[in-house]
Amino acid sequence: MCDNHSITADVVIVGTGAAGIFCALNLPDTLSVHMITKDTLENSASYLAQGGIAAMKDAEDYDDYFEDTLRAGHYENSRKAVDTMIRQSPLIIQELLAYHVNFDRAGEELSLTKEGGHSQSRILHHDDITGKEITTKLLTGLRKKNNITITEYSRMVDIIEDNHICRGIVALDREGKPYVIQGKVVVLATGGLGGLFKHSTAFAHITGDSLAIAANHHIQLKDINYIQIHPTALYSTKPGRRFLISEAVRGEGAYLLNAAMERFTDELQPRDIVTAAIREQMEKDGKEYVYLSLTHLDPDKVRNRFPNIYKHCLKRGYDLTMEPIPVTPAQHYFMGGIEVDLKGRTSMNNLYAIGETSCTGVHGKNRLGSNSLLESLVFAKRAAMDISQNIPYTPIEETEVDLSEYAGRDFDEEYRAIVLEEIKRRDRDFYEQWIEPVDHGG
Ligand SMILES: Cc1cc2nc3c(=O)[nH]c(=O)nc-3n(C[C@H](O)[C@H](O)[C@H](O)COP(=O)(O)OP(=O)(O)OC[C@H]3O[C@@H](n4cnc5c(N)ncnc54)[C@H](O)[C@@H]3O)c2cc1C
Repeated sequence: MCDNHSITADVVIVGTGAAGIFCALNLPDTLSVHMITKDTLENSASYLAQGGIAAMKDAEDYDDYFEDTLRAGHYENSRKAVDTMIRQSPLIIQELLAYHVNFDRAGEELSLTKEGGHSQSRILHHDDITGKEITTKLLTGLRKKNNITITEYSRMVDIIEDNHICRGIVALDREGKPYVIQGKVVVLATGGLGGLFKHSTAFAHITGDSLAIAANHHIQLKDINYIQIHPTALYSTKPGRRFLISEAVRGEGAYLLNAAMERFTDELQPRDIVTAAIREQMEKDGKEYVYLSLTHLDPDKVRNRFPNIYKHCLKRGYDLTMEPIPVTPAQHYFMGGIEVDLKGRTSMNNLYAIGETSCTGVHGKNRLGSNSLLESLVFAKRAAMDISQNIPYTPIEETEVDLSEYAGRDFDEEYRAIVLEEIKRRDRDFYEQWIEPVDHGG
């Protein structure tokens, strides 16, 4: 950990989710790397991932996986990006295993499950806490590296731009005091924008800051209105993050039921279709939720396959094996973002974006479940390789920054307004349907 105020590093990485960590791990030890995160190391969407990580099962699976990803994305995906992700998926899984990620097994073989939109069982998982398992093991690897320092509770509020070359970032320390981190290369790995929504499965501090900063610096954004709503979050009247009921639950056979306890849609369709069916049903029923039922499934299997979800629901007063639970759609994932090429390069020199804040085009208009952890890791590694090959050997060029312009500003309000305005400009219908004032209730 680092609590320093005048920092320079070869590579500055903003965000400690799967994308940021994996990028850092794939950089050579000869480069100094400084990472910051707005909150604690563990508070990232990556840590929360439940269902799993998709990967091509074998060579015969390529065509099906490609088609499943494109079908879910309404064929708006970048075919090159999808091809890259799928072809590199077996290697990424091998690397995760080398970091001792403990995927569930059936005997000796890795156990594969299925989710909505996937025509094959090709999702690796660790119980229903796959993200925690992957992130924790990668963080263990990170802690062994002497070339990497990490600062928690530090928020990037700007990048340093010099003739359209990125030279570092401006951040606020935990007391809100601005400081500079100069670097040869900056990697934005700040995740999605769930914190801008009233109902989201993501952490409230993940608010799409990179997007507002990119917009201010005329960096190319793409599909910023392509925002996925997850069909099934546990319904609650309380403010704050909504608990996700993973798609894998429907993959294992759970039913969606209306107020009359009847099925009303095919549960295994892609997320946007299931979400639309649930909204329509909620309107018909005059309720803010529908039900998800696992009561027809083997109770032991439910408890063993979804121990985390089972325990959480029990804490909230629902026994999944005995009764249906109320579920409602909530913001879950961001397909758009800062436009990047297949090496994570943005439209600004020396500035990369990876993970959920970037838009590689892999997901098109709608993400196929369990493709996002994979996308984050594949393109984080590719960005790291490009950085390793192209980072200048010359010393860091320090740029004068007037820190007084960052003092006393309300970046939450300022950046929220920029991002929401951009979404509204691109898609007024989405904006009116889903954007409500945020009250995270502390
Ligand atoms: C509940 C839930 C379940 C999910 N389940 C799955 C799943 O089963 N399979 C799957 O593939 N995907 C899943 N996803 C999606 C997946 O977890 C994310 O898309 C992916 O992990 C994104 O990784 P990331 O590294 O880009 O971002 P994150 O993991 O969100 O990390 C973002 C990082 O950026 C930091 N940050 C943000 N803004 C700033 C700033 N201004 N300054 C400094 N730091 C900043 C944050 O603190 C955090 O460290 C799930 C998401 C959620 C919310």
